[in-house]
Amino acid sequence: MLLGPPGAGKGTQATHLQRQWGIPHISTGAMLRDAVKRRTPLGLEVEAILASGGLVDDGLMTGIVRERLQETDCRNGFLLDGFPRTVPQAHALDRLIVGRSPLVILEVACPDEDIVRRLASRVVCSECGRNAPEEVEHPTCHDCGGPLVQRQDDKASVVRNRLQVYHEQTAPLIEYYEARPTFCRVNGNQLFDAVARDITGALARIRRGW
Ligand code: ADP
Ligand code: ZN
Repeated sequence: MLLGPPGAGKGTQATHLQRQWGIPHISTGAMLRDAVKRRTPLGLEVEAILASGGLVDDGLMTGIVRERLQETDCRNGFLLDGFPRTVPQAHALDRLIVGRSPLVILEVACPDEDIVRRLASRVVCSECGRNAPEEVEHPTCHDCGGPLVQRQDDKASVVRNRLQVYHEQTAPLIEYYEARPTFCRVNGNQLFDAVARDITGALARIRRGW
């Protein structure tokens, strides 16, 4: 699982890791945004919460993830991005994966100042939701050709709330996981390739310890 503040680069790294390992990238944020877009009952329920940068109910989120992990593509592993986000969700995840290989926790760290700057300039595809690469000025999505837009919750006022929610509810997970031999931290405040390289190195070290 990837842990870290909004905009630390979890989603971008996850897209890369998904290809590298051939396991599904499960982004709870993307699942929720998709539900909002399709106006499903779940989407209607969570729309206002997403817009404000608050958190969706733990029980609801755990149910969504439980179902997703039962799909056959998760048989050989999966990459969680955006879940767990609270201590109760972390407890629930531990229960969901009893009998599987140990959970590897990859913290992508990034200071608040950089996050505010990154999110202010981030654009995502309005069709498939993928992040556009930072450096290149493309008018459309590299993957599907859809138009690039700013995410509603990347507006400065909402970002401040998301960061506060992160520090209050999600950062305590670092303490929850830190002592595990399968925990590692990488510096997310670097260019994409450097972060990817650090992740590969950290995972190799963890594997040697198994
Ligand atoms: P971020 O860029 O903040 O990492 P995500 O795409 O992961 O954004 O999540 C977007 C929004 O979806 C969150 O601000 C929150 O409202 C909701 N959300 C996603 N995952 C969870 C979760 N595990 N628990 C509660 N709310 C969630
Ligand atoms: Zn796209």
